[in-house]
Amino acid sequence: MTTVTLSGTAAGSTDGLSVWPASTTRLPHGGLAVGGVPLTEIADRFDTPAYVLDEGEVRTRCRTYRDAFPDAEVLYAAKAFLSRAMVHWVAEEGLGLDVCSAGELELAVTAGFPPERVLLHGNAKSPRDIEAALRLGVGRIVIDSASEIARLAAAVGPGGHQKVLVRIVPGISAGGHEKIRTGTDGQKFGLSLTDGSAQHAVTRILGQPQLELVGLHCHIGSQITEVKPYLTAVRRAVGLMARIRDAHGVTLPELDMGGGHGIAYCPGEPALDLTALAGRLRAELVESCAAAGLPVPRLAIEPGRAIAGPAGIALYRVLAVKRTGERVFVAVDGGMSDNPRPALYGVRYAPRLIGRPSAAVPCTATVVGRHCEAGDVLAADVELPADVRPGDLLAVPVAGAYQLSMASGYNLVGRPPVVAVGGGAARLLMRRETLDDFRRRDVGD
Ligand SMILES: *Cc1c(COP(=O)(O)O)cnc(C)c1O
Repeated sequence: MTTVTLSGTAAGSTDGLSVWPASTTRLPHGGLAVGGVPLTEIADRFDTPAYVLDEGEVRTRCRTYRDAFPDAEVLYAAKAFLSRAMVHWVAEEGLGLDVCSAGELELAVTAGFPPERVLLHGNAKSPRDIEAALRLGVGRIVIDSASEIARLAAAVGPGGHQKVLVRIVPGISAGGHEKIRTGTDGQKFGLSLTDGSAQHAVTRILGQPQLELVGLHCHIGSQITEVKPYLTAVRRAVGLMARIRDAHGVTLPELDMGGGHGIAYCPGEPALDLTALAGRLRAELVESCAAAGLPVPRLAIEPGRAIAGPAGIALYRVLAVKRTGERVFVAVDGGMSDNPRPALYGVRYAPRLIGRPSAAVPCTATVVGRHCEAGDVLAADVELPADVRPGDLLAVPVAGAYQLSMASGYNLVGRPPVVAVGGGAARLLMRRETLDDFRRRDVGD
């Protein structure tokens, strides 16, 4: 079996393009093309900043998951990036969808996504979230707190029926940054195994005839590059399933292990080995269930970042270069309003000068945004040609997840457009946000 990791292209692995989409090709004069479209052409046509999404890369990643997990349900985590085109691609590739708001849900369903293949989760679901989920008929709702149980049961109504899962906290610390570790006690998500609140919630759900408890759910964190935390989580989840069977005589048919699969943002960084995860997760599940005398539940997984992240590229124009003391600041026309991840999690990126050749020696530079915060840093201490100058184009790979979906309106810069590429053609998926958009929302005087 070939080993599939969640990043890295065989074609690009030798020339610094290892984290770029597989379709990336070099052009003369320092250019790059993705999906057969030169990035400079996209910058000229759609202006900067702009986000490029390689449709083929998204679809390939969906298929890679389906192939690696043939017995599991794969749900794309919409919060990583969502648009109507993305909804279509994910649906066509046979994945389900994981949403956490009425907004994500309605966008998906109105774009044609089958609601029965949607799962709604969230630690604080609003009445509107629940109303939309029931009205549209989502397949599953993940219970995240005790107070939600009666509320959901009442909303479903005595004659109604809704499949639910319980989100458990298996007590595992994993993930690329403290702010994205969700598998331990002492954070806001899920119901703890250690203090008994998960067991208590299960009992209460089983007492609500209109709620059908079909399984357990856990999502231990994000940007996880090791298989082991998932195996521990599976063991603990199966342990709870056995206790539920013993206490209530109920065998749960589903186990959702969430997402969190780590990817490389810079060449040389580790990524989660998807083949290893698939094989060892299944083996652990089969073994734990055999030991507990349980049938093997249907597995679900929810990758977000690993599907959208490596398919996206951010394009920026350099506006200013400032040399202060030892440091070189390269300021671009975007920043924390289109990518808050460096400010939130201190992550690293590998921006690249494109569109002109440079024979200059590399210098260490800090790529910053245009916003009014000293923390508006996009990429600290990266290598760029020493002659980097205003007017240059920078491209940042692995920009497809948790950037635009977390974008803000800060400084009224306006959110960038999203351009899909594939087969040598570019098409606009989302237009640039304009002053007109801001003025239309601003209805007071
Ligand atoms: C965010 C999230 C995911 C996706 O996480 P990734 O790190 O993008 O794979 C999956 N499931 C749940 C419940 C989440 O909150």
